[in-house]
Amino acid sequence: MKYQHLFGPVHSRRLGFSLGVDLVPYKYCPLNCVYCEVQKTTHLYVRRQEFFPPEEITSELADFLKGKPELDYITFSGAGEPTLYSKIGEVIGFIKANYPHYKLALLTNAVLLNHSTLRREILPCDLILPSLDACHQDTFERINRPHKALKAAGLVEGLIKLRQEYRGAIWLEVFIIAGINDTEEELDCLAKAIRRIKPDKVQINSLDRPGAEDWVKPAGSRILNRVRNYLAETVSQPVEIIAKVEPGFDDASIAPDLLGSIQATLSRRPCTAEDLAGILGIHINEVSKIMRQLKSERKVSVKREERGVFYSWIS
Ligand code: SF4
Repeated sequence: MKYQHLFGPVHSRRLGFSLGVDLVPYKYCPLNCVYCEVQKTTHLYVRRQEFFPPEEITSELADFLKGKPELDYITFSGAGEPTLYSKIGEVIGFIKANYPHYKLALLTNAVLLNHSTLRREILPCDLILPSLDACHQDTFERINRPHKALKAAGLVEGLIKLRQEYRGAIWLEVFIIAGINDTEEELDCLAKAIRRIKPDKVQINSLDRPGAEDWVKPAGSRILNRVRNYLAETVSQPVEIIAKVEPGFDDASIAPDLLGSIQATLSRRPCTAEDLAGILGIHINEVSKIMRQLKSERKVSVKREERGVFYSWIS
């Protein structure tokens, strides 16, 4: 069976061996983050919708899970915002009813958590990983470039409501862009919000693949350590910097025939990750992870053009 909604399982930095489930079409998202590693949002969207019949997703899950694979998590993520899918509750219910031994994780930008229906639908998840990069509206707009209906204050309030209703674990991610949200004023505002949200832990992240905008650069370890220390002193939750995957960690996941197809394609002409996903028939997130590994091994070069980030094979 060819999967449209499943990708991986992949080794994830935070979730171990994780099967990805993509619930929305490519780049439907309420945000257009400058650091987005899936590239620019093409559909800046806030209306929850049944993009696909839920049976389309649950039949893929049933097919994949019949082999009883060992997984650390089944994770709702992908190339858009999973909570936009109005039937997420049905998919969660299907997994919990039929495969209760698998743990469920949700990666979300959290901007729709003010919807009480959505919060109810995601309660059965074992782990929710929301993002919060800024509390000041101008900084939120600069980093996350939200749909005009969204406010930073509303994002924080949604997270507070989630914490009050949800019994599972919340790991809050803060993506740091040096010079924008690492100042004392920004961190102070974030710390105040974190104290109200009460996540189980805070994870500090930074760029490690090309982002949507060229000017976004990885924050160095000095900056990340400073941010971690500042937050660790001002909130009561554990604060950690998300470690990078060791080079070669994903080696086993690149099948030799897939590697051969990628080499043959990229030797002929440069392609974006999206192009490759279409050509190879695999999910964009899987392509992105493979490209990151090939880049670290210096097998591919990267060039940014108007249409996106292009990869070429280095012969
Ligand atoms: S990083 Fe996530 S929330 Fe931001 S634009 Fe990309 S998919 Fe949307």
